[in-house]
Amino acid sequence: MDNYKHRGLRKRLVDSLREKGIKSEAVLEAINSVPRHLFIDNAFESLAYRDKPFPIGSGQTISQPYTVAFQSELLNIKKGDRVLEIGTGSGYQACVLLELGAKVFTIERHKQLYNTARTFLPKIKYKPNMFHGDGCLGMPTYAPFDKVLVTAGAPYIPEPLKEQLKVGGILVIPVGNVENQVMTTLIKTGASDYTKKEYGDFSFVPLLDERSWG
Ligand code: SAH
Repeated sequence: MDNYKHRGLRKRLVDSLREKGIKSEAVLEAINSVPRHLFIDNAFESLAYRDKPFPIGSGQTISQPYTVAFQSELLNIKKGDRVLEIGTGSGYQACVLLELGAKVFTIERHKQLYNTARTFLPKIKYKPNMFHGDGCLGMPTYAPFDKVLVTAGAPYIPEPLKEQLKVGGILVIPVGNVENQVMTTLIKTGASDYTKKEYGDFSFVPLLDERSWG
């Protein structure tokens, strides 16, 4: 299931992420721990440790490892942080957050992807709290969160995600149009005060709110 060959490829992937500028040893160690090949169709296993996104069905993709590492680094996870993720997809990013010691709540709008992740993750001993629904609404029942992560390209920053953040908390969200988004962080500095920072261009599948589901 996870043999020496996979571990060797993973180690090389981690080295390449370090060369591309990822500095957090905790994040690199988490990437080194999660068997990414198990999140990808068997037939394409050999591609699992390239630094590339990959189709996971329902027109969606598992994010590129560099992007997962970059977003994880911006979140600056502390053990025990309550983290809300929008866009479970394959569940890979959720597992990286678990490896970092977070308590993870993750939402996916595609029923099929949600079902697949819900069945698969516990089999490899990862147990985030998984929900099917519109992540743009956040998860009021479990709020507030120390960190919120959006793993789809957002046309705007959904207000509930800002509200459900603790003061001192961090929201990481790629914001832009369908082709191109700017990695953005908001640090909540007061009940309705935020400090915004931008970190360059990325390209995610779109974040679709419930009105546009069809
Ligand atoms: N974090 C994922 C990346 C998945 S791609 C991984 O590690 O594999 C982004 C995901 O966001 C897609 O699965 C897409 O269906 C989902 N998504 C898009 N809009 C959403 C919304 N409003 N609520 C929840 N999930 C959404």
